Amino acid sequence: MQSTMMNVPLSLNHLLERAGTLFAGNEVVSRLPDKSLRRHNYGEIYRRTRALACALQGLGLKKGDRVATLCWNHHAHLECYFGVPAVGGVMHTLNLRLSPEDIGWIAGDAEDRFLVIDDVLLPLYERFKHLHQFEKVIVFPFSGAPVPAGFTDYEALLAGADPDGFVYAPHDENDPVSMCYTSGTTGRPKGVAYSHRSTVLHTLVASLGDFWGLRGTDVVLPVTPMFHANSWGMPYGAVMMGVKLVFPGPHMHPDDLLDLMTTESPTLALGVPTIWMTLIQAYDASLKPDSPNRGRWKLPSGMRSLVGGAAVPESLIRAFDAHGIWILQGWGMTETSPVATISYPRAELRGAGADEKYRRAAMAGVPVPLVDLRARGDSGQDQPWDGHSVGEIQVRGPFITGGYHEAGSPPDKFSDDGWLRTGDVASVDALGFVRISDRTKDLIKSGGEWISSVDLENALMAHPAVAEAAVIAIPDEQWGERPLACVVPKRGEEATPDALNALLLTKGFAKWQLPERYEFTDAVPRTSTGKFYKLKLRQQFPR
Ligand code: ADP
Repeated sequence: MQSTMMNVPLSLNHLLERAGTLFAGNEVVSRLPDKSLRRHNYGEIYRRTRALACALQGLGLKKGDRVATLCWNHHAHLECYFGVPAVGGVMHTLNLRLSPEDIGWIAGDAEDRFLVIDDVLLPLYERFKHLHQFEKVIVFPFSGAPVPAGFTDYEALLAGADPDGFVYAPHDENDPVSMCYTSGTTGRPKGVAYSHRSTVLHTLVASLGDFWGLRGTDVVLPVTPMFHANSWGMPYGAVMMGVKLVFPGPHMHPDDLLDLMTTESPTLALGVPTIWMTLIQAYDASLKPDSPNRGRWKLPSGMRSLVGGAAVPESLIRAFDAHGIWILQGWGMTETSPVATISYPRAELRGAGADEKYRRAAMAGVPVPLVDLRARGDSGQDQPWDGHSVGEIQVRGPFITGGYHEAGSPPDKFSDDGWLRTGDVASVDALGFVRISDRTKDLIKSGGEWISSVDLENALMAHPAVAEAAVIAIPDEQWGERPLACVVPKRGEEATPDALNALLLTKGFAKWQLPERYEFTDAVPRTSTGKFYKLKLRQQFPR
């Protein structure tokens, strides 16, 4: 057979064109630094994005050149998502929560040529600019104030460019379009580059009905920062389907997010568990008769919520479900675009009771299409999918990275046969549900037996007096390591070690698995993407 289908390259430009031609009237809302809302429609975003691409061409951006962004979630950041690749450039999202030293190092490692930055973040730029020389710094006047002298004004740049005359740069579907760095919690940050092809395939897969289930009538609130694995790829899906986007800008406090949810009524919102924990606590506290916030908020009942990036405790799923909001857990990493597994109700679970539904929802879920997954045991064999044999999760697929920028494919990150070694330890059950027990480095080995910190944390967070719990290993002369639990009690509540141990025993933990010690604190430290920062905790409690 000579002829099959056309060999048309998968391309982000196609997604942008769809938004401009099919969904021109749909809205993109951005919250500005002064908390007011700025509304655009996709028609305007389309023209502005093409104007940006045209302007970057005029500035001499060439194929493969990196353009860094240091921005909150808003419409101009979305324009970079599509405008930079449209000229053949690679958009590199810098994480504004990292230290200035790390940001400067990463910009240097990526050899970023230009920087697009929010004006409100210029003080941060001043602290890392000595570490990397950008050829041009383009300032987005997010606050509305005039752009300081010496910088290029983003709006002036767009105003001077011709969106109609712009012609997309020729490209191959394997050309890079964007780049993110791993957080470096397990070593130096490493660059991961996504291609047109990987991004389009990931967008199609993640948008499927059982996963994001994107609908034209959706209103999507991406709380996940656009610098955290590209907001898990959601901006691409939203543009592909022309769904209304509501960007929170710099206002990530739970009170602000609840205000935004109340006025804009999202149907789908995404964020990491720690943010969702503080959000539900603030909301539930507002329902108390003496609360100063009583009546201020309305959680949109029926909203779907994507939560991932760290284990999602069952108690959190139940707490949101009590308000008619279902949490869909996903597991993945920067290297996997990131959606690799999602927990959803499979046909076999149709008749399952509520407890079983919650139990499943608290698992990482089933591999999504195009992702092959295996759990490799210590001796190099694949573990059976029996729900209890654990091994390192390894994955392979067209949106899993094949290597790192300038670092290639080191053997600690890739198996001999080319699968990505995730460093996550998990079991898989007969239905293909993955249950993460730990990251390799977070496992606790006590008297030769593994104790899962994730299991202990989830059980502790089910106690009504516990807001947050993080468990780490501390060295122990007799047992090698023992668990230490850092617990944040809910405001006005008291949690005692005895009460917590009693709860753990009722949940099936053996005596030797109970925490050796409890430390009660005001807050568990967070990483730059808002997860529990166990490395910091280990430094804080070395023994
Ligand atoms: P980092 O956590 O280092 O900032 P990533 O955002 O790439 O970098 O995080 C990927 C890691 O997050 C995974 O390897 C895994 O350890 C953890 N993770 C992500 N989703 C989940 C989940 N649903 N359950 C448990 N752990 C998760």
